[in-house]
Amino acid sequence: MAPPSRIPPCLLPRFDFSRSVRYTGAMADDLSRAIEVTDPGGKQPRSRSRTERPANASQRKRKWVLSPTRICTYLECPRKYRYIYIDKLPRYFGARAYFSFGSSLHRALQEYHEAGGAQTQNAEALISRLEQNWIGAGYESAEDERARLLQGREILAAYHESAATQEGVTLYTEKLLRIDMGDYALTGRIDRLDSLPDGGLEVIDYKSGERLPTSEEVADDLPLAIYQLLCVRTFECPRVKASIYHLRTGSKVSTVRTAQEVEPVAEGIHALYARMRAEERYDPIVGDHCSHCDFLDRCRRQGWDSSRL
Ligand code: SF4
Repeated sequence: MAPPSRIPPCLLPRFDFSRSVRYTGAMADDLSRAIEVTDPGGKQPRSRSRTERPANASQRKRKWVLSPTRICTYLECPRKYRYIYIDKLPRYFGARAYFSFGSSLHRALQEYHEAGGAQTQNAEALISRLEQNWIGAGYESAEDERARLLQGREILAAYHESAATQEGVTLYTEKLLRIDMGDYALTGRIDRLDSLPDGGLEVIDYKSGERLPTSEEVADDLPLAIYQLLCVRTFECPRVKASIYHLRTGSKVSTVRTAQEVEPVAEGIHALYARMRAEERYDPIVGDHCSHCDFLDRCRRQGWDSSRL
C-alpha cells in the first residue's frame, strides 16, 4: 500500500485545517510538538532563505535529501523509515501486480509523450508501447495478466483520445526536480509537466488504482503539494496546478497553489526536517499499513503489539 499522502495539519501550520481534519492522532500530535519546538511563534510564514537556492554539485553531495516518498514513509512509520533509509535493510519485495501494472502504464506514457504525444502518435502506437514495456510479474495467473493487459490497452486508447484535446503542452515527463532548502535538498519526480495557456504550469500525477480520489483528498495530497513547491521554486512560476489523472476513468481532479500558498508547505517541511534530524527512537506506528510492509515479520519478532500485527 502506498504511504499516506494527506497533509497533516501540524505539518502545514497555516494550511486550511478544515480540509485536513481527518489526519489526526498520535502522529499529528508528535509533529505538532516538533513544530512548537522549531517554530515557537508559529504565526508568520518564514520568508524564503537566501540559502534556498539551487545547490552546486559539491553541496548536493553533503546534503540530506527529502522526497515525497521519504517524507510519507516517515509519517507512516518512523521505524520503517529507519529500516529503509538508515539501516538500509534489504527489502523483500515480492512482485505485486499493481506495481507491475502501474509501471507498465507509466513507461508507455512516458515514451508516448517523449515521441510527441497525440500530435505525432496514434492510439495503436501508444498501445504498442504498453505491450513493449509490459511487466508480467506478480499476477495471480496468466488469465489475470491477460485481463489486465486488455484493461491497459483500453485505458491507453481512452487516454490518447483525451490527449488530443488536452489544454496544455507537455514539457516534461518523469522529470526529476531538486531544490535547495538550506540545510537539505528537496526532490521529487513528476510524471508529467504541462504548460497551460494562462502561463501557469500543471503537474500531472498518474494513478492507476481503482478509486478516484475526491477533490478534498487531492487538495490535501502531500506529494502534490511538494511538486507544486518544487515547480514554483524551480521555474519561478506564480501559479501551479496539480492534478491526479485517474487512468481507469480518464478523470482528472485538480488543486491549484500560488507561489504564496506553497510557502506554508515549505514551512511544514522545514519543521519536519528538524524533527527527523533530531529523531533517535524511530518508534513503530502499527496499523493497517503493516500488512503491506516488507518488515512485518521483523516487527512481529520484536513483539510489537502483535495482536494488531
Ligand atoms: S510492520 Fe508496521 S510497525 Fe513494523 S516497520 Fe512496517 S509499518 Fe512499521
